[in-house]
Amino acid sequence: MTAVAVDGLLKKYGDHEAVRGVDFAVEEGEIFALLGPNGAGKTTTMEILEGFRQRDGGSVRVLGRDPGDKADGRWLRGHIGLVLQDIAVEPYLSVRETIARNAGYYPAPRDTDEVIDLVGLREKEGAKVKDLSGGQKRRLDLALGVIGDPRLLFLDEPTTGFDPGARRGAWEVVRNLRDAGTTIMLTTHYMDEAQALADSVAVIAGGRIVASGTPDTLGGRDSALARIRFALPAGAAIGDLPIPVSDAEEGLVTAEAEEPTAVLHRLTSWALERGTPLERLTVEQPTLEDVYLGLTSSYAQQDASSPSIERGQDPAPAVRGRRGRRPGRSSR
Ligand code: ATP
Repeated sequence: MTAVAVDGLLKKYGDHEAVRGVDFAVEEGEIFALLGPNGAGKTTTMEILEGFRQRDGGSVRVLGRDPGDKADGRWLRGHIGLVLQDIAVEPYLSVRETIARNAGYYPAPRDTDEVIDLVGLREKEGAKVKDLSGGQKRRLDLALGVIGDPRLLFLDEPTTGFDPGARRGAWEVVRNLRDAGTTIMLTTHYMDEAQALADSVAVIAGGRIVASGTPDTLGGRDSALARIRFALPAGAAIGDLPIPVSDAEEGLVTAEAEEPTAVLHRLTSWALERGTPLERLTVEQPTLEDVYLGLTSSYAQQDASSPSIERGQDPAPAVRGRRGRRPGRSSR
């Protein structure tokens, strides 16, 4: 079943078309990552799905409901979880009290202790929220996103500010949630995070989806040429090599190969016959980041050179300020 279906989504702020006909689908049980440069339209799209913003056109279904409709919106608040930036929480409550209090907002919450363990905050359960580090606070945000046992969880840049170990821990938590049946839609600026977590990705730039697929196939990545690099052996000229290469850069020459196994065989046989090792030899497929940068570089430049647009022109203003409000609260 499809958890999120977006067709021809449009959103304008004044004259500025922030989202210009976006289509994508998130299947139930998958981790879906929405990627894109600053100002691409990710937050706007997510906020429309979360019911914080009204769209100007197109159709949106979240768990089969319309988040722009009042009654559907109320139903959705009990069935989705949100992990946003800067969630407002009581600074003088403890971690445990905060999670337990939020559990009370939902009809069938998860067990508070289970959630404390899930996000790795057992040692800090008695600590006041104001005394948590940035990364620990983000874990608490995650705990508050999952305490309602949502069918669908929205994660907005879930690991920004985490140390490398904490990021791995958070990825494990997200995978475990997916494996337990939660559908997850996230935004991230970290391509390694999208690679590690996402079953599907879509890249949005300039308000449009410019590519979608799996992390391994996005933008034809799986069929892209492999890049072989090595240092030109001392005493050898480029013309001596058994394969065509492009010029030395940082002391390395580069060959591109559709069939790297055969090309490497020719190259390494040549080197072994001459008795010269190939120093600094590497073989690489383009990374997700390489593909992403290729897809978005022109948009990133456009965005940087376009005039800045004042926020707050939306008919439902101050949504950013409202991002800290859990939907569950407003129905109580
Ligand atoms: P980032 O990665 O920087 O968070 P994003 O992809 O989430 O960016 P959005 O926040 O959706 O981008 O913004 C898309 C465009 O709409 C940008 O050009 C932004 O300036 C503009 N915009 C967003 N919110 C408003 C608003 N309330 N009023 C006016 N313009 C807005």
